[in-house]
Amino acid sequence: MYIVMVSSECAPVAKVGGLGDVVFGLCRELEVRGNSVEIILPKYDCLRYDQIFGLQITHKDLWVPWYNQSIHCTVYFGFVHGRKCFFIEPHSDHNFFHRRMFYGQGDDDQRFAFFSRAALEFMLKSNKHPDIIHCHDWQTGLVPVMLYEIYKHLGMTHPRVCYTLHNLQHQGVTGEHILRATGLNRHSYFFHQDRLQDNFNHAAINQMKAGIVYSNFVTTVSPRYAWEIMHSGQNYGLGHTLHVHRNKVGGILNGVDYEVWNPEIDRHIPSQYSADKLDGKFANKKALRDRFWLRDAFKPIVTYIGRLDHQKGVPLITHAIHYCIQHGCQFVLLGTSPDGRIANHFWGLKRQYNDNPDCHLELSFNEELSHLIYAGSDMILVPSLFEPCGLTQMIGLKYGAVPIVRATGGLADTVFDANHAPKPYHERNGYVFNDFNAAGIESALQRAIGMWYSYPNHFSELMVNGMRYDYSWKNPGQDYMNVYDLICEK
Ligand code: ADP
Repeated sequence: MYIVMVSSECAPVAKVGGLGDVVFGLCRELEVRGNSVEIILPKYDCLRYDQIFGLQITHKDLWVPWYNQSIHCTVYFGFVHGRKCFFIEPHSDHNFFHRRMFYGQGDDDQRFAFFSRAALEFMLKSNKHPDIIHCHDWQTGLVPVMLYEIYKHLGMTHPRVCYTLHNLQHQGVTGEHILRATGLNRHSYFFHQDRLQDNFNHAAINQMKAGIVYSNFVTTVSPRYAWEIMHSGQNYGLGHTLHVHRNKVGGILNGVDYEVWNPEIDRHIPSQYSADKLDGKFANKKALRDRFWLRDAFKPIVTYIGRLDHQKGVPLITHAIHYCIQHGCQFVLLGTSPDGRIANHFWGLKRQYNDNPDCHLELSFNEELSHLIYAGSDMILVPSLFEPCGLTQMIGLKYGAVPIVRATGGLADTVFDANHAPKPYHERNGYVFNDFNAAGIESALQRAIGMWYSYPNHFSELMVNGMRYDYSWKNPGQDYMNVYDLICEK
């Protein structure tokens, strides 16, 4: 099969969170299965250019319609750790992708609507006829709309579209100018409840809704999240749309790329190890302490790695830092926040614990460092308010960092409580709590810390159980192939 991914992220060159990891890992798995896979990305100025090999111009003059004119683009090709990637660079005063950041700009709606149009124009002009176009999140939600409303009539009759929802919180709700910009000119046709009109703000269009309505199949990133967005209130207003299209919606648990995230072969950590040979784990714990000037003491290291966002449970992360320090643990955090107030809050905490030999808060984005933290930690915390899938707990499991998570979304699908899970002990792998409050998280932390100190053998067993879980792309890869087969047959 010939598959083209259109995405705003791909690890490690353009990674903000899990979307980047998923696009890279899924593409590798699809290639291993014999498919031909290409990825189309914006050519951001902040790409990790050191991770792109053989970058060269492949299409010098691509003219992309935009309002009543066209914007001149150059398309580059390069390999990202073996994956074939095309990067689209527009040349205009808008400087859409020269912002030194991936998201968070006032005109994000235009930047990614333009990218979606440019990706289709590129496929048309370079005569690409993929069997599947796979789009992700609101940023590429207009791709299936433009494919079926514009590009089909220009000869792109072949592709089917799979659309993956990674997070319903961000939907790309915007004004009708986007219709004019992208050439979707029939205002009254598109401004309709059954098409692009936002379900609440009737004067706005919703790009994620557009993707759901127009694609041939919609996946989300865990079975539990699929259930939550269909049957609970956690759909940020898209419940009705998902219900209408329920026959083409399904949940496929994300995988983890074990070529990248695997302590047996990880080149970013000083000491490799596995479930059968755990010595290296302790050497990494020591290396983590050395790196952050933490004292060498008989204490577990609890960590948090991730975006510092409302979704991730800022009050609970904060509470956990204080609780862990007071209850015989060391705490390491790696995270950033584009939200000034949240960032200030963590800078305040960092100052508070500056001289504490049991705590380090690293407020930056650092992919290489994250490997050492996974490898050096005893427990990893994911206390999210909601979590579509979550990769940190799955990566943590592979590295023998016992996850402490809230029972929501993909966290509930992947972590099974040491004391309460309805599974035999060898299938339990972490600690789970329900209530989004201090008492909730304490109930899990207390049990985890108690187990580490009082029953170290049981704790090690739990850790090894987690390391033996298979959350690779093998199963999800097959699930996506089944979806592609299904929509190609129709
Ligand atoms: P989300 O997609 O909501 O951000 P996920 O758990 O699905 O959360 O994926 C997070 C990914 O981003 C993981 O690979 C994690 O290691 C990585 N990550 C998050 N924050 C940072 C950071 N500050 N530095 C390095 N890696 C990070």
